[in-house]
Amino acid sequence: MLQLKNVDVCYGSFKALNNISLSVDTGELVVLLGANGAGKSTLFNTISGLNKPVAGSIEFEGKRIGGLKPSAVVSSGIVQCAEGRKLFPQMTVMQNLMMGAYVHRRDKAGNKKYLDEVLELYPILKEKEHQPAGSLSGGQQQMVAIGRALMSRPRLLMLDEPSLGLAPLVVRQMFETIQKINSLGTTVLLAEQNAFAALKIATRAYVMENGQLVMEGDRETMLGNEQVRKAYIGA
Ligand code: ATP
Repeated sequence: MLQLKNVDVCYGSFKALNNISLSVDTGELVVLLGANGAGKSTLFNTISGLNKPVAGSIEFEGKRIGGLKPSAVVSSGIVQCAEGRKLFPQMTVMQNLMMGAYVHRRDKAGNKKYLDEVLELYPILKEKEHQPAGSLSGGQQQMVAIGRALMSRPRLLMLDEPSLGLAPLVVRQMFETIQKINSLGTTVLLAEQNAFAALKIATRAYVMENGQLVMEGDRETMLGNEQVRKAYIGA
């Protein structure tokens, strides 16, 4: 579905991504592990068109998307839910959700169907639909952010650190819904520091260090790998 080959990205003279080759198959839930500053957000921003690669190729469903504008990447079926949620805090929950439907604004019936699915996934958002998004708890704001991304109808959903700053119980529920979104048919690429919880729901995972992918394996391999356990799980 998604294939990156030998991708390099630079900030000035600093090479933030170095020779990245990564693939995501349809239906997978692929986790990207890595410490702060490893380059996970840079990689996501590159796939979503915010950063331009200086080398390498990015293909999605057989079409080259490297270098496309972010809006064109969204239209092609890849939607990113960025770190830090980035909601419009003064706007209501419903207005925030509907921002995600902008690319499909002419398809009112379709948007209603997707909205119903989002509200079924996160029933609390129905109760809070008229409240300003900024008045919600951190976990509920994360639901709005993911819901808004789903309203753009991704075939590949990229989630950057969705558990950041959330309480442990809320984190658990967050991972359960991410797994549900995946099982309902959306392919997921998930960057996480919360390695154990992320690996438990993963099909496969990559480890990123200093702008390079240094390891790749399926869930069992990664959970059983001593290096991964020491560096990212703390066991
Ligand atoms: P975090 O989880 O903290 O966001 P990350 O793994 O997502 O970490 P990136 O944010 O992608 O890492 O950063 C990778 C490297 O690129 C870091 O060394 C960072 O300081 C640097 N970097 C990120 N954005 C820029 C920028 N706009 N200009 C210059 N350097 C940057």
